[in-house]
Amino acid sequence: MDSFGNDIKSRTFLELAGELEAMGEKFFRARQLYDWMHCKLARSFDEMTNLPKQLRERLDREYSYTSHTLVDRRISGQDGTEKYLFGLWDGNVVESVLMRYHFGNSVCISSQVGCRMGCSFCASTIGGLTRNLLPSEMLDQVYSIQRLTGERVTHVVVMGTGEPLDNYDGLVRFVRLLSDENGLHLSQRNITVSTCGLPDGIHRLAEEHFQITLALSLHAPSQEKRQKLMPVAKKYELEEVLDACRYYFDRTGRRLTFEYSLVSGVNDSMEDARALAALLEGFPCHINLIPVNPVRERKFVAPETKRVAAFKNKLEKYGKTCTIRREMGRDIGGACGQLRKGYMEKQQS
Ligand code: SAH
Repeated sequence: MDSFGNDIKSRTFLELAGELEAMGEKFFRARQLYDWMHCKLARSFDEMTNLPKQLRERLDREYSYTSHTLVDRRISGQDGTEKYLFGLWDGNVVESVLMRYHFGNSVCISSQVGCRMGCSFCASTIGGLTRNLLPSEMLDQVYSIQRLTGERVTHVVVMGTGEPLDNYDGLVRFVRLLSDENGLHLSQRNITVSTCGLPDGIHRLAEEHFQITLALSLHAPSQEKRQKLMPVAKKYELEEVLDACRYYFDRTGRRLTFEYSLVSGVNDSMEDARALAALLEGFPCHINLIPVNPVRERKFVAPETKRVAAFKNKLEKYGKTCTIRREMGRDIGGACGQLRKGYMEKQQS
């Protein structure tokens, strides 16, 4: 058994084929089973009608099969963005978001229940980390949304609750299964993983031969400022994190994205923009500016639109490419992680 216990949907096709063979089953049964799980998006063994009942019963006895329940679904009247709250087998809930763009449907998924990184502006970390999600539980977020909408998911960003590199094995298996040609076969180029910057994890990821995009949550142009916003920065010097990012680029040839959440009066001055451009001088990258989403428990506010635009112009003057992240689904549940938080508070009261 590997580290994902008896969770059948986290198995690779080869693992599954080997295990079914050991049960005395023909090779094509593994194909059928994998197809039911990862193409037809079955929610239980019961749905797999072309598998003999006896085999289905045996699988049900020997494996666990994850499947989300829909706890809440909110559809934005403004831009068609949808926020989902899914219930897991153990009573925990995770949040996922569907965003519709001209280039396709993008789903933002969570990688953990809660988070232990402690970023000062983030709602997802307030209750700490409960547990890692299994690869299947990350897939289920994509699969459920595809089933519920009947629309193909073309892009996935691992930018919801959790630090993906703190669930390294789960993340890597998730990427493999999601891009597997026997499953949904999403292009790895359409998968983005966002990290707060764990150098060991970035180094390891660089060796996986993936074509995914790595996004680094930078949020400040200096070590001093960064560690005020992100406790994890106290553990890893900015230089060490950026060296890991350079290594990632060298190994994969994939241009990185740097995320920079703009907080009024904290990291949004023209001097910050200049320092940021200098820090990333010569680095093939894209900067994504995110006016901070207000979180009830925190005092941070976003700069005015004019100031955000000035920050972007300054970066562009120094030759950096950058975009301002368009806020989507404003009318349906506030900032990242707040739908889940609101739900948990209601449960407790
Ligand atoms: N743990 C990962 C992914 C989770 S969050 C990471 O740190 O990258 C995805 C992005 O949203 C990160 O850049 C995170 O710092 C940012 N973020 C979190 N809360 C935010 C908020 N209230 N406003 C703006 N950005 C936020």
